[in-house]
Amino acid sequence: MALARVSPTAFSLSLLHSLSRPFSSSSSPVLRPKGFSIAAALSHGDPLEEGAVEEAPRPSSRLPWKPTCLYYTQGKCTMMNDTLHLEKFNHNLLMNLPVNASAADKMKPQKLDYILVLDLEGKVEILEFPVIMIDAQSMEFIDSFHRFVRPTAMSEQRIREYIEGKYGKFGVDRVWHDTAIPFEEVLREFEGWIRDHKLWKKEQGGALNGAAFVTCGNWDLKTKVPEQCKVSKIELPSYLMEWINLKDIYLNFYNRRATGMMTMMRELQMPIVGSHHLGIDDAKNIARIVQHMLADGAVMQITARRHPTTSEVKFLFKNRIR
Ligand SMILES: [Zn+2]
Repeated sequence: MALARVSPTAFSLSLLHSLSRPFSSSSSPVLRPKGFSIAAALSHGDPLEEGAVEEAPRPSSRLPWKPTCLYYTQGKCTMMNDTLHLEKFNHNLLMNLPVNASAADKMKPQKLDYILVLDLEGKVEILEFPVIMIDAQSMEFIDSFHRFVRPTAMSEQRIREYIEGKYGKFGVDRVWHDTAIPFEEVLREFEGWIRDHKLWKKEQGGALNGAAFVTCGNWDLKTKVPEQCKVSKIELPSYLMEWINLKDIYLNFYNRRATGMMTMMRELQMPIVGSHHLGIDDAKNIARIVQHMLADGAVMQITARRHPTTSEVKFLFKNRIR
């Protein structure tokens, strides 16, 4: 149904519509200067399919680089038995989150079984809800949950401009329009996902079982989710009331203040994969920082908790980023 909603006029301002459609014959390689963004590549007629995002090639890997299929990350790829599509696009997120077995020597015992890295996108309303699930003991990538989110209180015109500005530069505005669903539906699907992983049960309510969200800062769960719940006229779910602010763990473990994901990656000398500010890529990069910190011996624990009735947020670390 969401697919049918896409109208050609939505892209009249964009060059994207005139670009190659899936399986078009244009496949001549394009030489791309280092750091050349995917948006620029698309607007110059790069044959990369819309809905796919460029990943930084891993130097150690001999496999040819492939863009990630963003229909697949949302459980909406309909071309899984098309060999050409599978050859062209990455359908395996594990690729960016490998665990080096020898890296676990310094690891400390963890109270949590799983880490759910969450990195929302969208300042006015939430536009993207990406979650990467990591095993806190083995650091291994377990699963991911990714949805593009359709704003509730904005006009169609406003949404088009907002998405063009936000995702147009990554060349993924088309897949956004094809797949985005309202926040309320995203939460319903997410609840199915955490239930399947045995992390939460609607009948029992409360916080996650043996797992916790990791966010980069307090904004996602302290500010944005409650705001969006008001706009969407729903109650704040009980499992979104406590979290781990990675910046606080980072500050207490390395004794250094990090203002954001990019600072942490620079300080830890980690290369960024994918596109910064595309939620699924940011979540992947934050998950890589979590793996790095776990391997260094950091312990992941809750840093903030909201009172279920007063709604007041308590910060549990004395030494924290304000
Ligand atoms: Zn696909």
